[in-house]
Amino acid sequence: MVEPVRGIVFDVKRYALHDGPGIRVTVHLKGCPLSCWWCHNPEGQDFNPRLLFRGNRCIACDRCLCSCPRGAISAEEGRMTTDSNLCLACGRCAEACPSGAREICGREMSALDVVEAVMKERIFLEQSGGGVTLSGGEPFEQPEFVYAILEECKRRGIRTAIDTSGFAEADVLLDTTSLTDLYLYDVKHMDPERHKEYTGVDNDIILSNLRKLRESGAAIVARMPFIPGVNTDDVNLRATGEFLAKVGGVAALSLLPYHSAAEDKHGRWGMDYRLSGALPPTEYSLRRAAGIIEGCGVKVAIGG
Ligand code: SF4
Ligand code: SF4
Repeated sequence: MVEPVRGIVFDVKRYALHDGPGIRVTVHLKGCPLSCWWCHNPEGQDFNPRLLFRGNRCIACDRCLCSCPRGAISAEEGRMTTDSNLCLACGRCAEACPSGAREICGREMSALDVVEAVMKERIFLEQSGGGVTLSGGEPFEQPEFVYAILEECKRRGIRTAIDTSGFAEADVLLDTTSLTDLYLYDVKHMDPERHKEYTGVDNDIILSNLRKLRESGAAIVARMPFIPGVNTDDVNLRATGEFLAKVGGVAALSLLPYHSAAEDKHGRWGMDYRLSGALPPTEYSLRRAAGIIEGCGVKVAIGG
């Protein structure tokens, strides 16, 4: 019985091509305990639905002003401002806004709603060897919701993957192994202090969970966001390769090249971006990094 289990989702992406084999439906669950500098989905970090405002789309029509039951919106020198302490993310201003400047990020869905959305794409998923990928935020922040979605997908023959930071209770992760065909597991930095600096959390739990997940026999593709100046030095590349080789059985490490879409997205939503001006890696640096890691005995793929 999956219907009573509900969670918060901020995007359901159809025809995703980089979140596991084949064509995927990627369901982004809201909430993440990490705050990575390069986060591509910063709007998914906090757990609750949230009002997002794109100032560059605002045409100062004032329609939102009178739509807010909380009086959270003010016009100051022609600029609309919203008091986040008063805003309840009810969405009325977003409905009133003619220019798409206001948007509510995050909505409550039942596990069954999610599976029904996935089922609409079933023919593409089956023909391409794809399936559903639960992503985030961090999906394991909503463990019961994740479990209910996986259970129903399995019952309906949909293949499943989880894209995780690995920062979760070990038991919560291990509970899903019988329902999950593939884990896409982030390994962001091997140095605990630098990991904490760039993501906000230690890497102890993450690395220990990866070992436990492998011991359980789970299929894993490790993923490393390849961020020049953050984790691309030879010491870290070698440490990553040696760690994965020692864990053993990880199908491959995908190097995910940094790109500036994250900066655009932070800017669009008025959020600070701490890697401002960072450039994507060169083809040469990616191939060189792949060589170092493969030298440790780990297969490497560049890209998703
Ligand atoms: S989402 Fe609702 S409470 Fe928040 S500013 Fe808009 S109308 Fe007001
Ligand atoms: S309704 Fe939209 S376009 Fe009009 S003032 Fe409010 S935010 Fe700007």
